Amino acid sequence: MNETTKNTTRTVAVLGLGIMGAAMARNLLRAGLDVRVWNRDPAKTGPLAEAGAHAAATPAEAVEGADVVLTMLYDAAAVTEVIRQAAAGIRPGTVWVQSTTVGVHDAGALAELAREVGLELVEAPVSGTREPAEAGQLLVIAAGAPAVRDTVAPVLDAIGARTTWTGEDAAAGTATRLKLVVNSWVIAASNATGEILALAGALGVEPQQFLDLIEGGGLDLPFLRGKAGLILGDTLDPASFAVDTSLKDARLILAAAEEHGIRLDGTAAAAARLERVAARGRSKQDMAAAYYASTPEDGGSGD
Ligand code: NAP
Repeated sequence: MNETTKNTTRTVAVLGLGIMGAAMARNLLRAGLDVRVWNRDPAKTGPLAEAGAHAAATPAEAVEGADVVLTMLYDAAAVTEVIRQAAAGIRPGTVWVQSTTVGVHDAGALAELAREVGLELVEAPVSGTREPAEAGQLLVIAAGAPAVRDTVAPVLDAIGARTTWTGEDAAAGTATRLKLVVNSWVIAASNATGEILALAGALGVEPQQFLDLIEGGGLDLPFLRGKAGLILGDTLDPASFAVDTSLKDARLILAAAEEHGIRLDGTAAAAARLERVAARGRSKQDMAAAYYASTPEDGGSGD
């Protein structure tokens, strides 16, 4: 956090302690903020409580006295459900940093929900996965009223490397639109990585030969090396960005594309590959597991 920020934000409620929410809550604690946490599966609050957070039994308890409420849940339906459960504890005018990745239409519906329960909405989806989240190095994409930006600054500074403001009206969904564009790139690059490795394997080409050939050139990409490492090293658990979550995002992207009259054949194909491996018990593995969609059978974990 910027030490020079004169700010009255002291208490942050974090609703959702999955891969991303737990890491964000830890960085809020490290920044010296009072953190109140809630998660549907209460077992996930234990490690945060040990690190100094107040573990709340309900969303309403978590948001009591909070200056900022941060949601990092699976999707818009979960966000709506949890914010409604929190409503009784909300102090009118509390700022809501909504970081869950949602669809273009969800942004407007969540802004309406914010008005209903007395929250000031800032949409704040993030780019970056488990490791940048743990390091407080996420790229925050934010939209919201200038009047509340000082209030959210200590929170966004704690979780991210920088914040890109896309607009002043959270209801317009400008941050969500940019986030979906970013994720269409993530999904395309991850899918391409899996297909390249499957093709190399089928043709008897050593994957390392390919990686060495492109090293340092225009075709090289740290993301490719990261996801290829997970596939080749068979380290798809624990996920950084799970198959089911990236499939949810692929569907949000396809819905937005269809509504705006464009075809995204590559995203549709990537979604179909994620669906196939999810059906084979790989839904909680890293999205790089879509590699296995290239083979007719695989040794999925069957979870
Ligand atoms: P995750 O590990 O699966 O966590 C999902 C969270 O949502 C968990 O706390 C889960 O609770 C909660 N949840 C799901 N359905 C719920 C419901 N109906 N009611 C209450 N809580 C519910 O997912 P994640 O990777 O942290 O992702 C969280 C969000 O961030 C998603 O929108 C994702 O698209 C976005 N995102 C992810 C990444 C990434 O790389 N992982 C990067 C940027 C953005 P339980 O623990 O009880 O299941």
